[in-house]
Amino acid sequence: MGACTAVSTNGALFTRDKLEECLKSLSWIRYSTSAGTEATYKKIHRGRDGDFARVISSIAAASEIKHRDNLSVVLNVQIIMIPENRHEVVTLAKIVKEAGADRFIVKSVGAMDKTQSEVGRDLTADFYSSALDIKEGLKALNDDKFVTVYRDTRVANTFRKKSYSECYAEPFHTMICADGGVCPCCDLQGREEFYFGNINSQSFSEIWTGERRKQVMEMIKASGMAPCPGACKLDPMNQYLDELLHPGEHVDFI
Ligand code: SF4
Repeated sequence: MGACTAVSTNGALFTRDKLEECLKSLSWIRYSTSAGTEATYKKIHRGRDGDFARVISSIAAASEIKHRDNLSVVLNVQIIMIPENRHEVVTLAKIVKEAGADRFIVKSVGAMDKTQSEVGRDLTADFYSSALDIKEGLKALNDDKFVTVYRDTRVANTFRKKSYSECYAEPFHTMICADGGVCPCCDLQGREEFYFGNINSQSFSEIWTGERRKQVMEMIKASGMAPCPGACKLDPMNQYLDELLHPGEHVDFI
């Protein structure tokens, strides 16, 4: 059993030469692409002119290399649906299918505190559950080479109480932010009180084995998981590990 190696990227700098070098070593790529046109892409991502075209070229190049070299890497594209890109979700799905992506995933906004996430402002579970036109539009694109997934449960479960009392998944995962800050996960990104350190001033090993990380995770546990949204990034892994650590009675009963 080997480790799964993957890249989550906006794709704008993932050029063909980089793909040629690393694609054979990857289990999957996840392109995070928040628009289906150049204008909306620029408004949301705030990148350079032409970035949307660069991302689509990257997906197309990855697909070409994958099929040329018979690689097993899975090419995922995801969009976080918000009011500003809702009208382009199906358009983007069509474009990336054409470019050769394998999977297209629509997600709801993360469960961050509203003060941490500009896009988290007034979105409700209904914004996602009522988007029947998009669900139907995506379903029509599914075939044996391209799968679409519509995941709208994250917002609905934001305030669900945790069924476990500590983050068992944290030792398997971490988050390094653009400014070098290291914290447990994307759900706590931007909240300095949960940062373990910064890779611009410390080595990762120093941060990972340091006292500060232990203190932060203890603080989260002692607070009854208060800062952790119900449907956080690692919630499924935590639920699974909690069940392994605390199996209920008669787990063998079918
Ligand atoms: S938000 Fe989730 S992943 Fe992050 S520390 Fe809390 S339980 Fe762990």
